[in-house]
Amino acid sequence: MNNYLRIAIPTPLRRYFDYLVPANFQAKHPPAGVRIKVPFGRQTLIGILLDVVHETNVPVQKLKHAIEILDEKPVFDTELLQLLRWCSMYYHYPIGEVMQNALPVKLRQGASTHIKGIRRWQLTPEGQQLDLLSLKRAAKQVALMGDLKQSTSGLLDSQLSEHHVGWRPVMKRLQEKGLVESFEENALPIAQTITSAHKLNHDQRHAINRVIEQKDDGFHAYVLEGVTGSGKTEVYLQVIADVLKQGKQALVLVPEIGLTPQLMDRFLQRLDGRIAIMHSGLNDEERLQAWLHTQAGSADVIIGTRSAVFSPLLRPGIIIIDEEHDLSFKQQDGFRYSARDLAVKRARDLNIPIILGSATPSLETLYNALQGRYETLLLPERAGNAKPPTISLLDVRSQKMEHGVSAQLLHKMKEHLENDSQVLLFLNRRGYAPVLMCHECGWHALCPRCDAHMTLHQSNSQLRCHHCGTEQYKPSACPKCKCDDLLQMGFGTERIEHALNELFPQYQVIRIDRDSTRRKGSMEKLLNEINNGKRQILIGTQMLAKGHHFPNVTLVGMLNADHGLYSSDFRASERMGQLILQVAGRAGREEKEGEVLIQTHHADHPLFKPLLKHDYPGFAKALIEERQQTELPPFTHLALLRAEAVDQQSPMVFLEQARLLLEQNKQNDVLLIGPFPALMERRAGRYRAQLLVQANNRKQLQTLFASSIPQIEIDKTAKKVRWSIDIDPMDLM
Ligand code: ADP
Ligand code: ZN
Ligand code: ZN
Repeated sequence: MNNYLRIAIPTPLRRYFDYLVPANFQAKHPPAGVRIKVPFGRQTLIGILLDVVHETNVPVQKLKHAIEILDEKPVFDTELLQLLRWCSMYYHYPIGEVMQNALPVKLRQGASTHIKGIRRWQLTPEGQQLDLLSLKRAAKQVALMGDLKQSTSGLLDSQLSEHHVGWRPVMKRLQEKGLVESFEENALPIAQTITSAHKLNHDQRHAINRVIEQKDDGFHAYVLEGVTGSGKTEVYLQVIADVLKQGKQALVLVPEIGLTPQLMDRFLQRLDGRIAIMHSGLNDEERLQAWLHTQAGSADVIIGTRSAVFSPLLRPGIIIIDEEHDLSFKQQDGFRYSARDLAVKRARDLNIPIILGSATPSLETLYNALQGRYETLLLPERAGNAKPPTISLLDVRSQKMEHGVSAQLLHKMKEHLENDSQVLLFLNRRGYAPVLMCHECGWHALCPRCDAHMTLHQSNSQLRCHHCGTEQYKPSACPKCKCDDLLQMGFGTERIEHALNELFPQYQVIRIDRDSTRRKGSMEKLLNEINNGKRQILIGTQMLAKGHHFPNVTLVGMLNADHGLYSSDFRASERMGQLILQVAGRAGREEKEGEVLIQTHHADHPLFKPLLKHDYPGFAKALIEERQQTELPPFTHLALLRAEAVDQQSPMVFLEQARLLLEQNKQNDVLLIGPFPALMERRAGRYRAQLLVQANNRKQLQTLFASSIPQIEIDKTAKKVRWSIDIDPMDLM
């Protein structure tokens, strides 16, 4: 019987490839999930073994030998392999690239799966007995031996490097003589002392009990709907502690890289286990090590951002998604998966519980709870002595504004600052001014590659496009009419920062946005300056809204909330509500009471009403009803076919053709909408268009694409465009 290796190879082709076993291969056939090096065209690529099969559609004389099997043990176990195959099918993304995405970069490149520990050196019994005088002609050896003798628990590589230049060859000689030995220890951090838990309030207790009580029943999905500051993290901690006690692992997904250090500290202080972190701020080696520790079971808690949903858990016990409504759980390019949705699917496959936590759950999640698929656990009140902040609107129509800040807000700021409290201002626009315009002739600074304005960044006198990254020097005069009267229109965080520095010279202002936190570690540094009181006024984008705990902030001002009220994106109002409550959640988190002021030109808009009363359920209910009437998700399911090209016609031509093909295959009640040019048609020099597909259930979408994609991808119009499918799109622009 012949054996063929069926392999997922990282190429854009939506299929697998069959190979012969390596020419000199003797052992019994390898298990699925190992990495295999194969010749592919003129390249050598690393793929993942899906299966060993006995028949192939490829004529045998055309089959090539795989070059080398890289692993003995699979990098993906059966469960992950299945999940990834499912992903490829559900998201209609090439299997090889799905696998690639789920693997740390170093493993994609063929690195070994060796776990690096921390090396600790100590004396052997012989070493301890040795009279150092007998080494007297080797001064470096004497020095090393002397230091090791004095240390009680041995010395780490890093400690040795500090005091002994070039110690490694010397240590090697001592090792050869049998005088020293080394041990590898788990390199993941672990708590030295564990601080005790809060005394739980009734709702927290109930939530924790529910999860612990039902943990032996296997899969169960909970929505932990707790207002900001209600102590959701405390619930996670105690549930995880219970999971660790059973010897199992907990996977915790968090939205932003900025969140991980704070959360990590809290977890480290409280949990008796090894914690691995996985996020994009790590270097490739750190990521690899965290991944390997997870797989080997030497990490007990894994905290990570989106892609950590693919963590290779050895002893899965629970999955927790913090801030489940956050958009960053959806990958927005390439393999456009939703880590939140996949986490639920994975928990179901693994038959373990999952908690989706948020103060402002997504409508999809609330709808699942309404349908009885998820159990809701409510934390309606803030933990400890903290009270909810009052939220009010500032009607700024025809009010005098100073740099985008109304007189009323300025007045309030003074009050709070004089009380030794901190003030946080929120504006979802970075840079200095979003538009630079000539006062004389009306010229605007437009991006040469996008249908968009360039944003002025004053700090380095640059114009920058926030869509494609194009940078130019700020012109000193209008390029069209040469007049030098250039108007800076609108406000970004940088401009507000300048203004605040002038308005409040006696206070220190700090700005937190993507520009000010670009360098590694800068976010942590800025957060420290806030929490140790060095800065009193905080201005930032939504980075500041996410999950942070600023004990001394009592006033939060939203400079502009109107964007979400009249947007063409049907999710805009949901996001606006979530943002308002999340931003508001930064105020008054401890003893001092908090206050939130929202500047708006539409103070009588009905959407604001429930939000002012902290009534997110009421707010969400109205939106869910609206979605039902308008037949939008979660009542229907969407997919977006996108195409782009350097010329304007090709994307539309391709999508018209795709539409024809879909028409032929579709069931009656599947709707095709478009194609139409994207709202911002040109981005980074490419024209973009899209076709929206709407169905009553996921199955319809799946069958339609499964039958249509093979036709779409070989259509000749497809050659002229880059195209992609976005299943359950979160961004319709
Ligand atoms: P959330 O994640 O819901 O926004 P946190 O878990 O960050 O809330 O809790 C907010 C604050 O309340 C933290 O300082 C936390 O230590 C504290 N806290 C949590 N639970 C309790 C409790 N039962 N009693 C007193 N303080 C608590
Ligand atoms: Zn001009
Ligand atoms: Zn651009």
